[in-house]
Amino acid sequence: MKKSLTVIATLVLLTNICVVAQKGDKPGIVQLQGPQNPMLGFVIHGGAGVISKGSLTPEKEKEFRAKLEEAVLAGYRALQAGKSSLDAVEIAIRIMEDSPLFNAGKGAVFTHDGKNELDASIMNGKDLSAGSVAGLRHVKNPITLARAVMEKSPHVMMIGEGAEKFAAEQKIELVDEKYFWTQHRWDALQEVLKEEASPRSNVQSPKPGLHGGKASELPSNRFGTVGAVALDKDGNLASGTSTGGMTNKKYGRVGDAPIIGAGTYANNATCAVSGTGWGEYFIRLTVARDISALMEYTALPVQYAADRVIKTKLQNAGGDGGVIVLDKFGNIGMSFNSEGMYRAYIDKDGKPVVAIY
Ligand code: ASP
Repeated sequence: MKKSLTVIATLVLLTNICVVAQKGDKPGIVQLQGPQNPMLGFVIHGGAGVISKGSLTPEKEKEFRAKLEEAVLAGYRALQAGKSSLDAVEIAIRIMEDSPLFNAGKGAVFTHDGKNELDASIMNGKDLSAGSVAGLRHVKNPITLARAVMEKSPHVMMIGEGAEKFAAEQKIELVDEKYFWTQHRWDALQEVLKEEASPRSNVQSPKPGLHGGKASELPSNRFGTVGAVALDKDGNLASGTSTGGMTNKKYGRVGDAPIIGAGTYANNATCAVSGTGWGEYFIRLTVARDISALMEYTALPVQYAADRVIKTKLQNAGGDGGVIVLDKFGNIGMSFNSEGMYRAYIDKDGKPVVAIY
């Protein structure tokens, strides 16, 4: 009996691997990466969406690549210096939050009524502790506040004014709303509002705050959320995600980035995940936790688990976006069903690798 159960379990696992492997040669699928430095692992993303070749000027592409490299190296150096995976995640995300290139911190997208509302979360794979914040308007680095919620409060999630009051108590930097304003995000909102007002628009959607077609098809929606996953010298995994959400979101809308299990998840027994994409789908499909669960219950390798959820489940549900995943051995999985995803990782020789398409 026991023997036949083992045979069945092995067959199920092999079938899983074959099903996903068959899809492995489609464009956009990232091939399996080998382990990096076996002790350390670090991967970041700067958002997924319509980032086709030619949609970025050579200068802009250079800027993105340079900032991604700076952030991935900063996180990795922290790990090399013996800092924790949580430190590395926070350090890299802060760099991207401070850059207007990304939709997080400075450079966040605008809500329907022209405000910036920021969400972020962080999770510790060692003990499954987590912190998350949503609807912030004055916190310069939401990822730092998410970490404070995890480490300095008895809670997991804090929102809006209460979260900002806690930030002030914790001496976390607050800024004027104007700090987050950028011309390109403002123009993107105007473009969507114009499209929404046009009679033939497909932007108007039965679902408030969402777009009719694929969200990433709108030029203004190149997403741009940032995230990081890390494995430190003690074998601890951590993940974090920070975002301004989606352009033209309704007041008070919260996406997947601060929802533990949707946009962020980390568990030392399986993997660390950070996602970017159409948040409503990531929440409904609990994307990040689903990848971890696949690895936990079927022992699926990290890239296959990521592809199974993004290229099959998310794709079939009509959502779009991507994830970065790191397993407990430092193996990397990256998967997206959008045209591109800003991403960077440290390869097995300790060198940074940056990719967009
Ligand atoms: N996932 C984010 C949200 O829905 C958007 C993004 O990834 O850019 O809030």
